[in-house]
This record gives sequence, C-alpha cells and structure tokens, in this order.
Amino acid sequence: MKLIDMHCDTLWKLMDLDKSGDLMKNGCSVAIPHMKEVGTKAQFFACFTYYKEYENAGGYDKCYEHVHEMIAYLKRQAEEYHSDIAIAKTYADIQKNAEAGKISAVLTVEEGGILNGEMKRLEELYAEGVRLMTLMWNYENCIGYPNSKEIAVMRQGLKPFGVEVVRWMNELGMMIDVSHASDGTFWDVLRYSAKPVVASHSNCRSLCGHPRNLSDEMIRALADVGGIAGLNFYGPFLGSPNASKVDEMAAHVLHMIRVGGSEFPAIGTDFDGFDGMDVLEIPDVSKMERLWDALKKRGISERQLDKIWGGNAERVLMDV
Ligand SMILES: [Zn+2]
Repeated sequence: MKLIDMHCDTLWKLMDLDKSGDLMKNGCSVAIPHMKEVGTKAQFFACFTYYKEYENAGGYDKCYEHVHEMIAYLKRQAEEYHSDIAIAKTYADIQKNAEAGKISAVLTVEEGGILNGEMKRLEELYAEGVRLMTLMWNYENCIGYPNSKEIAVMRQGLKPFGVEVVRWMNELGMMIDVSHASDGTFWDVLRYSAKPVVASHSNCRSLCGHPRNLSDEMIRALADVGGIAGLNFYGPFLGSPNASKVDEMAAHVLHMIRVGGSEFPAIGTDFDGFDGMDVLEIPDVSKMERLWDALKKRGISERQLDKIWGGNAERVLMDV
C-alpha cells in the first residue's frame, strides 16, 4: 500500500503558524519520518494563503508573492533532504522517485484568487511546478464563489475569468480542485472542464450536512467524469465538531464507494490545516493504517484499499 495524500497544509503551518521546524523535524502531522514510516508515495503540499491576513496589506497580489515564497521553501527543502524527497511534476516523476526510494512532493495552490485576474500567473505557477489549484478558499475571488451556508452564494458559479481559468488549466495539464467551491461553481466547472476534476479534500454531505461536503448528486457527477474526492479528516466535515474519528472516516469512504463507485474515493487528509480537535484518532500520517484496518474490518478488499490509498489519484494524475 502506497499512500497518495492529495491535501495537507503543512507548508502553511511551518511558515505562517509555527514559524519553526522543517519537513524533517516539526510539530506537524506531516513530516518526512512519518511519511517514510507509512510508505507515502506522493504528498501534495498546498501553498495556502489566508486572504484576510493580506486584505489591507497588498491583497491577492501579496498572497501571490507569498505563494512563491512557499514554492521556493519546498524546493529548498527537497534539495536539503534530496535522498528522501523530490518534487514531482509528472506521473512519470512520481514513478521514478518511487523507484529511487523517494517520496514525491506535489506542489498545489489553495486559493485561486492569487491570480487576481491575470492568466499569465497561472502559466507562471505551472512553470514553477504547481500541478493542482483549488479554485477558491472560503471567499469570493476572481474565479468564482465559495461554499456557503447562504443559498444565494451557494448558487453563484464561475465568473467569466473563472471559465477561462478552467479551460487554461485543462490545456496546461493542471488538476482543477473544486473543494471549497460553491455548488454553482462545482456545476459550472463540470460543465466547462474537458478533463477529470477533483475534490481534493471533501466528504459526503448526506452523512454530514456541511456546505464543504459533496451531495450524492455531486459525487455521482464527479465520478461520471472520472473525478475523485479525497477523504478529509477534519471533524466538522466528518460529523463531530471536536473530534476526528476513524469510524466516521470509514463511513464516509463506504458512502463514497456506494454512490460514486470503487474508482471514486481517495485521500486528502487536510493535515496541518485545522486544529481544535479534542480527539484526533489519526494524529499524523504515520498512523494511517488505523483507517486501513477499519476499512478492512468493514469488508473492503485490499484491491479496493489500494485504489483509495493511491490508485484512484494516480489514474487522475495520468488523465490530466
Ligand atoms: Zn482547504
């Protein structure tokens, strides 16, 4: 079993919150020793910028600069720990790194607002190695509208620039991530994207009625276009406000299989992107076998587990 985790906020935690430690030694849920222990094949590292922090200090342009600092940081870390980890820009890179016994680090951006209406930034990010972009976080941006408890916002979709972004991401070969999107944005992306779309870190709304989660209709539609969703470990998206429980994780995976089929579920832990959990049954990535065991106990075959752990994500990486 080789793990591909499509979402962690470890770069943000290291650089913006803790301001200490590095990929080898830190107080985070994702670190090189943890990943080696569990046999991580690829870890997606999100460059996340919190817009509110920059709202009156440079806004999205400043966020764009900060994302470049995060990219540079991950590259320096990959150089420093080159015998353990290497940046991967293609599916072939991931295979090559795995053969060399290295973990692949995949660069992603969580907040498409950093484009601030400039398409050339998307090309610059691609050139820097970014291979997935979460179109928005929890704020409206130049691309479209975010998930919301307000129906009026939830109905709003892509803006004209957002439609162009979707097309250009298809063209470049960058994964389009609809986690955090409004329902309207979700449906617009599916309408305009010619390639599979991912929800890198979202769960099932019918088990946990949070707007960040996917309705059954959305799961079916995403699965129909060859897309996937990464299971998110954040309690409020699983079903418990202060706890991240393995039982609930397993229930969401089973529901994803029931509604979206065996090719649908993947992993997108959201590690280091949340706190406030009194109970964290999988405190770091090295303890992922707890979920593996829970799913096996519920009758999930090893073949299916391999798909969840990384097979389904690899398929989308190849398709995009
Ligand atoms: Zn997120």
